[in-house]
Amino acid sequence: MGKQKAGKSVFNCKACGGNFPKWSGQCPDCGGWNTLEEGVAAVDSSAKNPRFAGYAGDASKNRVQMLADVKPESEGRFPTGIGELDRVLGGGLVSGSVVLIGGDPGIGKSTLLIQTLARLSDQLSTLYVSGEESPE
Ligand SMILES: [Zn+2]
Repeated sequence: MGKQKAGKSVFNCKACGGNFPKWSGQCPDCGGWNTLEEGVAAVDSSAKNPRFAGYAGDASKNRVQMLADVKPESEGRFPTGIGELDRVLGGGLVSGSVVLIGGDPGIGKSTLLIQTLARLSDQLSTLYVSGEESPE
């Protein structure tokens, strides 16, 4: 066998048709053994192969940025009026978000949330739903 001419080598699977930049004994897609054969990429294989069309394919549109260049987006925060809770939440509740409150039994999760809803109910419609028995 002579050397490959111009064009990038690809390894095509005889069984499933997948193509890969590197040879491997087992096809990463179908799992077949010794099914990869070397060939030359006809065109840009990333354009046709759905294997490369996922998240990484979007990188051309959504350019990778340095962290320092990422502009902070400010979400509107709705203060609950409970100072310590607002501090932990970064200034208040974000519309459409979900907050999970966790802690040991009896630590005051329900009390905190009832107090919070009592305050918020001055300005908003609130609903408290509990799956636990209320203490006697
Ligand atoms: Zn395969």
